[in-house]
Amino acid sequence: MKKTLFNTSAARITRVYALLLMGITVILSCVIMSVVGLKQFQVQRQQALGIVRGLKRSFIANQNDWYWWRMGSWADTKSTFIRISVDKSGKANRYLYSPNAKAFLATKSRGTVHRLTHNIHYLENTGLYYHVRASDVSTSAKDPTVRYDVWMKLNGVTNLLWLLIRLILLISLAFLLLGTWFIYLLARKLNQPLVELTGTTKTINADISENYQRQLPVPASPQEVHDLTVEFNLLLHSLSEQEQADRRFVANASHELKTPIATIRGYVSMVNRRGDAHPEVIPTALAFIDKESERMQRLVESLLTLSRANQLELTTSAVDLSTIITDTAISYGESMGREIQLEVQHHVIAQANQDSVEQVLTSLLNNAQKYSPADTPITVKLAAVGKTLTLAVADQGIGVPDAEKDVIFGRFYRTSSVRNTVAGNGLGLAIVHQLVTLSHGQIVVKDNQPQGSIFEVILPRQ
Ligand code: ADP
Repeated sequence: MKKTLFNTSAARITRVYALLLMGITVILSCVIMSVVGLKQFQVQRQQALGIVRGLKRSFIANQNDWYWWRMGSWADTKSTFIRISVDKSGKANRYLYSPNAKAFLATKSRGTVHRLTHNIHYLENTGLYYHVRASDVSTSAKDPTVRYDVWMKLNGVTNLLWLLIRLILLISLAFLLLGTWFIYLLARKLNQPLVELTGTTKTINADISENYQRQLPVPASPQEVHDLTVEFNLLLHSLSEQEQADRRFVANASHELKTPIATIRGYVSMVNRRGDAHPEVIPTALAFIDKESERMQRLVESLLTLSRANQLELTTSAVDLSTIITDTAISYGESMGREIQLEVQHHVIAQANQDSVEQVLTSLLNNAQKYSPADTPITVKLAAVGKTLTLAVADQGIGVPDAEKDVIFGRFYRTSSVRNTVAGNGLGLAIVHQLVTLSHGQIVVKDNQPQGSIFEVILPRQ
C-alpha cells in the first residue's frame, strides 16, 4: 500500500519537482553568493587601496602629519587598522598607529592566522580581514622610508553573505513547501480522471453479471485519458458483443440439439409403450430415430468444424486452383446427380490451403443444390485478375433477400422461407465465412439473373 502511494504519478511528479527546486536553489545560491562576495571584496580592496593612496599623498613622517591626516580621514577605526612605520637611517624605527590598531596587532600576534589569498587572511576568533602594504622608499639620506600597513576587517562582507544564505534558505524552504504542496495538488488533479477510470474498471471487473455492457465515463480532459477511455469503451463494446454472440451460439446449439433428442426420445418411448402390441410401428420409429440421429451427427460435426476453424491457422502452399476446383465440382455433380457448368480459367496457381478450398466449394455447391430446383444448372466460375482471384457458385434457385444478404453468414442463421421447409442447421455458411477470413479473403452474395444467387469468394493469390 505504502509502495503504491509513493509510486503514484502525483508522488513522482512532486519528488522530481522538489529535487529540481533544491538543485536550482543550490546553484542559484552559489552564483548569488559568489557574485555578491566578489563584489564586496572588490569594494573593500578599493577602500583599503584608497586609504593607502591617501596616506601616501599626505607625506606622513611624524606624529603631526599623522594627526592631520587622521582628522581628514573617513576610515572607521573600529574595523580599519593602520600602522605606519617611519624608518630614518641612523635612527630606530618609529611607528604610528590608528586607534585600536595596537590592540588588533596584539590579538593577531597571539592568534593563528591562515592566509587564504595573498591579501585575505583569516584570524581565528576575529574573522576575515584584508591586508594591504605599501612603501615610500627614501631617495635621499634626509627623507625617511615610510611603510604603510592597512588591515580591514571583512566582517561586513561575511555578515552580508550569512544574511544572504539565511534569506535564500528561508525563501527556498518556503517555495519548497508551498511549491511541493501546490505541485502535489496539481498532479493529483491531473491524475484524478485516471484514478476514476481505474475505480470504474474495478467495479466492472467485480461485477461480471454486467457482461461488459457498462461504459466508462469519458473525461473531456486531459486528452490522453480521454483517448484512452474512448478506446477502452470500444474494447468493452466489442467484448460485450462477443459475449452476447457466444451466449446466442450456445443457446442456439442447445436448441438445435434439443429437437432431435426430443424426437428420438419420443419414438423410443412410443416403441416401449406400443412395440409389443403393435410391432409394425417399430420400423417407422427406427427410420425416424435414424434420420434424427443423422441430423444430430451433422450438427455436432458442423459445430466441431466451426470450433476447429476458429482456432485454425491455415498452412498454405502454391496449388493449381483450376484443377482443384474442376475436380471437386465434377465429383460433387456426379455424386448428387446435378448438372454443374464450369467456367474455370486454366492454370490459376495460388497460395492456398487445398482442404479449405475444397470445403468452401463443397459447402457452396451443397447450398446451391439445396436451394434451387433440381432441373436448373449450377455454375462454378474461377477467374484470376491481378493479385486476386474470384471463385463464384451461381444457382437459379430461391435467392437471398437483400435484407438478409449480410446476416446469412452468421452462426445458425437461416432465412424464414427455408426454416421449416429445407433441412439444415445454419452453420454451413458460418464455416465458409470463417475459412475465407482465415485465408484473408472475403465472401459476398449477389443476385443471379433472372433468378437465384451467386456466392462470390475473393481471395488473394499470394
Ligand atoms: P443451412 O443451409 O444449413 O441452413 P447455411 O449456413 O449453409 O445453413 O445457410 C444459411 C442460410 O442462407 C440458409 O438457411 C438459407 O436461408 C440461405 N442460403 C444459403 N445458400 C443459399 C442459396 N444458394 N440460395 C438461397 N439461400 C441460401
